[in-house]
Amino acid sequence: MNIVVCVKYVPDAQGDRGFEADNTTDRQGVDGLLSELDEYAVEAALQLFEAGEGEVTVLTMGPEDAVAAVKKSLQMGADKGVVVTDEAIAGSDSVATSLVLAEAIRKIGEEAPVDLVLTGLASTDGVMSVVPAMLAERLGLPQVTFASELAVEGSTVRIRRDDETASETIESSLPAVVSVTDQINEPRYPSFKGIMAAKKKPVQTWGLADLGVDAAQVGLDAAWSTVVEVTARPPRTAGEVVTDEGEGGTKLAQFLASRKFV
Ligand SMILES: Cc1cc2nc3c(=O)[nH]c(=O)nc-3n(C[C@H](O)[C@H](O)[C@H](O)COP(=O)(O)OP(=O)(O)OC[C@H]3O[C@@H](n4cnc5c(N)ncnc54)[C@H](O)[C@@H]3O)c2cc1C
Repeated sequence: MNIVVCVKYVPDAQGDRGFEADNTTDRQGVDGLLSELDEYAVEAALQLFEAGEGEVTVLTMGPEDAVAAVKKSLQMGADKGVVVTDEAIAGSDSVATSLVLAEAIRKIGEEAPVDLVLTGLASTDGVMSVVPAMLAERLGLPQVTFASELAVEGSTVRIRRDDETASETIESSLPAVVSVTDQINEPRYPSFKGIMAAKKKPVQTWGLADLGVDAAQVGLDAAWSTVVEVTARPPRTAGEVVTDEGEGGTKLAQFLASRKFV
């Protein structure tokens, strides 16, 4: 089974994050990493691959530094990587992102048909959570999202989807696009052996021209929506301290009631 995992390179949430004058994320000179939620998609691919045959290709679109997200995935155990990078894609919205990723998946499929496209639930910077559905539409494939369990049997993929009231089991034919949640597994850490092995794994770099994508369809100017303002949230203020002088329980209940928690 050939699996493509889409992984995004995002600014490290632990570090200082900022925005450019045009309200896009400042991706220059900030520490980036593989979007944490995408590690679950990589792990899911590796577990499926270990149970069968084929290969796992990781795909990213972003600045040249985005290769780091691919490398981490290769260290975890993926077989090969593809980085789509081009000056014109800076500031792309979900619509453009899905266009580029879909064309890259088509190109990867020219070598060997792609059976499954896996994605994370959402990127930790844009958090749109729509790229998987858009990918499925562009590729003309069924999509199942929010998978907290995933199994493949023959040409069928079966997932479990949980919400607050029910768990659904859904089946779809392959090929398909599946997005996974952070409940699905525990992503592995790259081992020393994995880190050494990753150095020899192939990583291809493609530009828009390699994919036949017109630069006018991507980038900030082509975005269908615009972030008009970004404001930093004020730092959290200290919480209210309830000192127990015999009436602590009552005070706590009053506090919770004032917030409509009880
Ligand atoms: C400050 C800021 C300003 C923005 N301004 C605009 C704007 O003006 N207009 C606008 O439309 N959008 C804007 N965006 C959204 C931004 O362009 C999104 O990053 C983009 O739309 C892709 O969506 P997402 O990253 O939220 O992906 P999601 O849909 O949340 O990602 C889901 C999954 O898709 C895959 N994926 C997503 N992106 C990639 C990628 N590049 N490479 C590989 N896999 C990927 C990953 O598996 C990921 O887990 C802005 C975002 C920020 C942070």
